[in-house]
Order: sequence, then structure tokens, then C-alpha cells
Amino acid sequence: DPTLRPDPLPEDADDTRALRPQTLDDFIGQREARANLRVFIQSARQRGEAMDHTLFHGPPGLGKTTLAQIMARELGVNFRMTSGPVLAKAGDLAAILTNLEARDVLFIDEIHRLNPAVEEVLYPALEDFELDLVIGEGPAARTVRIGLQPFTLVGATTRLGLLTTPLRDRFGIPTRLQFYTEDELHDIVTRNARKMGAPADDLGAREIARRARGTPRIAGRLLRRVVDFAVVEGDGTITQELADNALTRLGVDNLGLDMADRRYLTMIGEDYQGGPVGVETLCAALSESRDAVEEVIEPYLLQQALIQRTPRGRMLAARGWRHIGLEPPRAQGQ
Ligand code: ADP
Repeated sequence: DPTLRPDPLPEDADDTRALRPQTLDDFIGQREARANLRVFIQSARQRGEAMDHTLFHGPPGLGKTTLAQIMARELGVNFRMTSGPVLAKAGDLAAILTNLEARDVLFIDEIHRLNPAVEEVLYPALEDFELDLVIGEGPAARTVRIGLQPFTLVGATTRLGLLTTPLRDRFGIPTRLQFYTEDELHDIVTRNARKMGAPADDLGAREIARRARGTPRIAGRLLRRVVDFAVVEGDGTITQELADNALTRLGVDNLGLDMADRRYLTMIGEDYQGGPVGVETLCAALSESRDAVEEVIEPYLLQQALIQRTPRGRMLAARGWRHIGLEPPRAQGQ
């Protein structure tokens, strides 16, 4: 069931347009990142310059794209969006760069997946707002240098470690996004439920927030399902009982874990006696890709202290043992 996966789904699109926060003031959570961005945006505006290149990193669904759009809006410039895998050839990027207007924001999602030839083109563009284009082939080939308008690159990545060092070094403002607290998600759910015409009471919103894995995208998706139940089986409002019922029927447990997460925990606990077990072995046993395990399943399990990462592999933490209904082995203490 993809409901709890933080990667975007087609069904997210409509709500995203209506519910996405439009200004920094509207944006709930990420306090530190927001406070810094506010200063950098204002400074760029006062100096009339392009804001420094900014890198957002962190798990999917935490608001990287949303913040990039807000930056463009608050800077009063155009927002252009593309992604690493879409930019197949150097010419694809060159076409976008030469069309930018002064101080525009260019957002590149999944920037760790840029093809090396495209990345080469990006370096002089970022550093000197210049483009070196090779024209022609073979002995007739020559390089022409084209000046670009100053612009702001906003890169987003779920895998900071996969960025090349030269690319990383070209971002003046690296910003790590954090999982949201239950209180922050509670406020997001409350606001969005109101916008969707199915108001949530305090405990109803909290029930959804607690099970949203610290991720606004998931909170939005759970809210949509709960609203369906509220409309069809309730009186159109979201109470704790209604939310709890709906989410339990969807297979979302009280920590927001779904079948795949519980299978992961159970496998380490029962098949590998709590670990350590190597991530490759685990992926093979679960028939999950390494990307899915490392980007989607593990970050939240780690944050919830259900598992530990050790040099020899993954281990079940005491809280993980209890979550699958077993007592942690004595040696582990706690
Ligand atoms: P990312 O780019 O990190 O994957 P997005 O910016 O696409 O995440 O956000 C995912 C979803 O969560 C969007 O629907 C967005 O409207 C919502 N969202 C993200 N951050 C917030 C927030 N702070 N407040 C309200 N909604 C948010």
C-alpha cells in the first residue's frame, strides 16, 4: 500500500495546489531553516541581487519543493522546475539556463541524479553565470562562452552523500530539513481539514498527526482518507474515534508504521535475532530496492529509535523489539 510512502503520487497533485503553503509565514515547522531563509531572502532583495544557491536535503515529503516555490514568490521572481533524471543532455540544461530571467529561481529536484556531463555545464553557470557550449563535432568543434542572467539554483536531494563534492561546494546555503513534530503536524492537519471542509477537533487532528511519520505529505494523504470516512460514515467532522477507526482499517498502526515497516522490523527480530544484519541481505530478504529501504523505510525507523545503524549492519533497538511484541534480549539492557 503506497499510502504511507512519502514519495509523490499522482493523486497528491490536486490537493497540493490548493493546500500548499504560499508564504514563509504560512509554512508551519522547520523553524530554524525558515528563520535563516527569511534573512537571506530579505538581504538578496535589498541588494537587488540573486540569492545564493541553496541546497535542501532530507527525506521525501518534508517540503523541499514547497520552500523553493516560496523562495521564488518572496523574492518576486519566476520559478522554473526540473529534475536530475529529466536533464539527460548538456543541451537540455543549457536551454533552460539561457531562458532564465535575472534573479530567477531554478529548482532541480533529485539533483544527486544529474548526469556528469550535465553537471559539468552547471559548474561555470553557478560560479560565474557563464555557459561553455561546444559547437560542432570533431576537429571543427569549438567552444563558445555565453553569459547568463544571475540566477539562484535551488537543489533538492534525499541523498546528500551521493552528491559530488564539487557540486556540494557550490551551494552557499545548505539546509537540512527535519522530520516534523506531532504538534507541527497537528497544526498542518487542522488547517488543511478546515480548507477541505471537514473540520477536525483537537484529538482527531492529533490522531492523524501521530501516525504521519513526521511527514506533511503523509499527513495530507492520511487526512484525505479520513475525510472520506468522515463524509460517508460520520457527520463530516473528524474526531479521534473516527480517525483512529479509519487509520486502523487502512493498516496504519499507532506509530504510523505500515506492513512493509513491520515486516522489516519482524525480519530483523525473528529471522536475524535482532541483528546486526547487512543492508544488502535485508533488502534481498524483503525484496525491496536499496533506495526504498534507505530513503523511505529506514529514516523514520531510525528517528523513532526502533532500529540502530552499526558498522556491521542494522540492529533492532529496544523500542523496536517492543513494537513487534517481543522483549529485547537482556544483553541489550534498557
Ligand atoms: P518534498 O519536495 O520535500 O518531497 P513537498 O514540498 O512536495 O516535499 O511537500 C509535500 C507535501 O507536503 C505537499 O503537498 C506540501 O503542500 C505539503 N507540505 C510540506 N511542508 C508543509 C508545511 N510545512 N506545511 C503544510 N504543508 C506542507
